Amino acid sequence: MTAFLTKIPNHFDLPRRINRLGEMAYNLWWTWNPNAQRLFNRMDNALWERLNHNPLRFLRSVGRFEINAAAQDPVYLELYDRVFTNFDDYLKTTDTWTARTYKTRSKQTIAYFSMEFGLHETLPIYSGGLGVLAGDHLKQASDLGLSLVGVGLMYAEGYFTQRISEDGWQDSINNPLNFDELPVLQVLDKKGETLKITVKFPDRAVNARIWELRVGRLPLYLLDSDLDENTPNDRKLTTRLYWSDIDLRVAQEILLGIGGVRALRAMGYEPGVWHMNEPHAAFLTLERARELVHTGLTFKKAMAKTRKGNIFTTHTPVPAGNDEFPLWLIDKNLSNFWPELNLGRDQFVDLARHKEPWGETFSMPILALRHSDGRNAVSELHGRVSRKIWHFLWPNIEDENDVPITYITNGVHTPTWMARRLRLLFDKYLGEGWLDRLDDPETWTKVDSIPDTELWAVRRHLKRKLALYMLGRVRTRWMEGDFHPVQAIASGAMLDPNALTIGFARRFATYKRASLVFSDLNRLLEIINRPNRPVQIIFSGKAHPADEPGKMLIQEVYRVVKKAENGGRLVFLEDYDMNLARYLVQGVDVWMNTPRRPNEASGTSGMKAALNGALNFSVLDGWWREAFNGSNGWAIGEDVDPGTEVQDESDAESLYDTLENKIIPLYYTERGGEDIPHKWVVMIKESLRTVTPQFSTRRMLKEYIDRLYMPGMK
Ligand SMILES: *Cc1c(COP(=O)(O)O)cnc(C)c1O
Repeated sequence: MTAFLTKIPNHFDLPRRINRLGEMAYNLWWTWNPNAQRLFNRMDNALWERLNHNPLRFLRSVGRFEINAAAQDPVYLELYDRVFTNFDDYLKTTDTWTARTYKTRSKQTIAYFSMEFGLHETLPIYSGGLGVLAGDHLKQASDLGLSLVGVGLMYAEGYFTQRISEDGWQDSINNPLNFDELPVLQVLDKKGETLKITVKFPDRAVNARIWELRVGRLPLYLLDSDLDENTPNDRKLTTRLYWSDIDLRVAQEILLGIGGVRALRAMGYEPGVWHMNEPHAAFLTLERARELVHTGLTFKKAMAKTRKGNIFTTHTPVPAGNDEFPLWLIDKNLSNFWPELNLGRDQFVDLARHKEPWGETFSMPILALRHSDGRNAVSELHGRVSRKIWHFLWPNIEDENDVPITYITNGVHTPTWMARRLRLLFDKYLGEGWLDRLDDPETWTKVDSIPDTELWAVRRHLKRKLALYMLGRVRTRWMEGDFHPVQAIASGAMLDPNALTIGFARRFATYKRASLVFSDLNRLLEIINRPNRPVQIIFSGKAHPADEPGKMLIQEVYRVVKKAENGGRLVFLEDYDMNLARYLVQGVDVWMNTPRRPNEASGTSGMKAALNGALNFSVLDGWWREAFNGSNGWAIGEDVDPGTEVQDESDAESLYDTLENKIIPLYYTERGGEDIPHKWVVMIKESLRTVTPQFSTRRMLKEYIDRLYMPGMK
């Protein structure tokens, strides 16, 4: 088991009886344990909401009166004691899945590298699904008792806050984060001073310090180059996610890959497995080899010795979506590094040389694929696409199917994404300890025993909660001023908490085809405005600030959303983040996804919706292609071979047709005296039964452990 290197400061002025709240504020365990959250929000819910669920800020701001009241309230204290008993048991127990399953070999640490981690809305060091997956991976590793440490970057500003102007243009707001208000603590050396690591570039050295973040039982280490001794430009390496400036970008990846290995060494880690989530950290394969070259081995021998422990997960199904750098940039940033590997310039470039139509590049996925023994894609179809894309790297393998890239379909961390009300319902009907058996399909056969009335009551509650949340946001924005009334309506002011509600929220990348549903606008308006069967669609999502087509897509959606003819039933919510994602996946009836196949490597938001009882309505791409069984949701288009795609037009036709003839009638008809759409509820139960166990990180991480981590350690 891993240990933490930092000490939690006791700087909250709390009564002794409840002074461990400060400790809880510094461990993200509370984010997936609703009772622990209630220790904060029960004191002052309005403040808790206003501070964006930030326990550090909350404990510093909450009033004396509220604190003292809690410390004297027997109900609160009972909850407090129960939560801390659970928390202590969780941290101390040695009886974990990993310990039970791998008695002897579970001691070696796994280092998990990612450019972004989506753990909670207060820590905006993620941009989208890749980061949220990494965050879920850590939480699940903690739950399974896996000895894993995360490695990433601590961004001074984090990902941007999105504002949509009246004409639908995305403005990005970058505000510096106040690390003092975040649950991160600086790692110190033996003398009690800031521990620093150094990465040398040809013309300079860059220093970085390390922040520790507790995710249940395990630490996440975040590198930060914002130090006085670095040049202004080098301080920018950890200001924002994914610089578009390739000079900064390559240096950022050098810091993560090479600096990340050095940071782990400086802290005394000897990981047995090194996992790269996307190839941004692929320089770590070279740094690990360098360590052995330094002891006298040739590069070839050093690589042969280290590559077995390297694991690379690809998430990108389009070759152009991959990170690659022009060779001059490699010369500029790494010419001091290849001599340390005892390689010449050409030998070094050969490690990842890629011929593109516009010239030669140094390709990060090629670097990662060539120097890892474990390689995987993130869904079955994505596995096939990846083997095809990268077949040329294995010229001796004739059959594309034999290309050594396997797949492990993504999952989501159930306790993070499931509504508390639903958890309580499952506590009642799935039997004790169901969360520890959630990846066992057997656990879910019991959903049939849940009365429709109870399940439907929770669903209605969650939708009302979403509607009220949106109204609250509209009100806040309105009071801030500079908000046109039409923007208030476009933000959900006229939504009906009883109408069939569809959610569409994700990054606005063009392949996700956010505007597919508008292909025949008159038909759509006719569908959503039927007086007895209204339908509303909630859109949300950010485009990368440098992605002009993505921003234009938002504008296209926003223009339609602003039209009076839609009756306020089409909505765009600003600033999609993990908080809004939780409200949406929990509150909507239908989760829609319309990617152009096969570009959605996996997708995960639909899994979050399914485990909350929303039904998926999506293109048969990524995960949904594996999950859809004909009676647990709906498909858009057909499951044809990629390449022979039925295109936008027929997908749109399928979308309208299914909405009109299947989804809407199922929701609105045959409701009986209790006004419950029983057939809809049957479908919810089928979706819960089939999706929740399989598309969980509990199933996913066990696969990583069994198929990649343990073999990598042998
Ligand atoms: C889950 C999640 C995503 C990923 O969604 P996709 O289905 O991959 O589009 C992106 N952003 C946030 C905030 C999420 O919670």
